[in-house]
Amino acid sequence: MTDTLAHSLHAVQDAIRQAEAAAGRPAGSVALLAVSKTFPAAAVAEVHAAGQRAFGENYVQELESKAIELAALDIEWHFIGPLQSNKSRIVAEHAHWMHSVDRLKIAERLSAQRPDALPPLNVCVQVNVSGEDSKSGCAPEEALALARAVAGLPKLRLRGLMCIPEPTEDQRKLAAQFASLRELKEALQAEGYTLDTLSMGMSADMALAIGEGATMVRVGTAIFGSRAYHSH
Ligand SMILES: *Cc1c(COP(=O)(O)O)cnc(C)c1O
Repeated sequence: MTDTLAHSLHAVQDAIRQAEAAAGRPAGSVALLAVSKTFPAAAVAEVHAAGQRAFGENYVQELESKAIELAALDIEWHFIGPLQSNKSRIVAEHAHWMHSVDRLKIAERLSAQRPDALPPLNVCVQVNVSGEDSKSGCAPEEALALARAVAGLPKLRLRGLMCIPEPTEDQRKLAAQFASLRELKEALQAEGYTLDTLSMGMSADMALAIGEGATMVRVGTAIFGSRAYHSH
């Protein structure tokens, strides 16, 4: 098991280096977030032992239980899933990053609930770049206003933007959606905001996302294997 997970991790690291080179970007400019949702703490510990530090979780209960169980390890926890406001305290207390802020109410609660002893929570605003009704994320027209509001909250630190594109094989459509997120980030930077993060790209489309400017790819299946159905 250890060998397999370490091997998959290294293969993903190699694929990221290759995509950076293909895009003419410096080696090391794209960070890897290992998405461990549905996998046990033991699997996280193995991937951590192979050199990975940042892990992403989609479900608050899983974030909480793994963060407590693995508290002795130097892990940076990223919350990347939809968040109900009555669960925001768990994220405020256990996460280092929150990628899926899609409305002001959640941002305000996270800032208010972030413990004083912890540094500000690193935040990305999630944008619904595909315009699909069912998708989480704020509308592209709302993204700049929401990002400005997040940047003004005391216990949050705005780092950038995140998206999940439409599930399609159409590479041009995907590339256009990734590019639209990059353009929103550039618009905020033109206003003077210091942003370093474009969280986009998953197992199936990370090279494409890197070509469009991703600085953090969120990879689950290619490291941990396919997920069994998981209901919450
Ligand atoms: C599950 C998930 C991922 C990882 O997807 P894979 O296809 O398994 O790499 C990335 N981002 C989000 C928001 C997810 O929910």
